[in-house]
Amino acid sequence: MNTPTENIDLWEILKKVPDPEIPAINLVELGVIRVVERLENDKLKITITPTYTGCPAKKLFEELILEELAKHGYNDVEIISKLNPAWTTDWLSNETREKLLKDGISPPTIGDRVIICPQCKSTNTKLLSQFGSTPCQSLYSCNDCQEPFNYFKCH
Ligand SMILES: [Zn+2]
Repeated sequence: MNTPTENIDLWEILKKVPDPEIPAINLVELGVIRVVERLENDKLKITITPTYTGCPAKKLFEELILEELAKHGYNDVEIISKLNPAWTTDWLSNETREKLLKDGISPPTIGDRVIICPQCKSTNTKLLSQFGSTPCQSLYSCNDCQEPFNYFKCH
């Protein structure tokens, strides 16, 4: 049985938990993990904000978080869902947006809502379907390179 590692930053552990839908980014980068508290006797309290209400990934987020923490000896973990303020794609950092783009997913843009083709960076794109490979993405196609791509929807 593992014992909790005293000196490890809990955020570093949580950064190992991938987004089940987009494994290139983790739940910290996604902005799902909001607050991490270390209570008495190595009990942890984690506050998460699911990407949107009814997102099928919510249960999976919790399981993945518990699994990763257990690997580091944290077996007494309480996960609280906080729905207010609601998760928004504005919580994604520029670094995270770059990662999405490299993974072939067009990241949501703040402000002007221009949709960029991850292949050729063209902004001359059109919507093919509201639903892409996951409910959190839409399917677009690029008018310049003709490649279809997934766009991470804004909420
Ligand atoms: Zn293109």
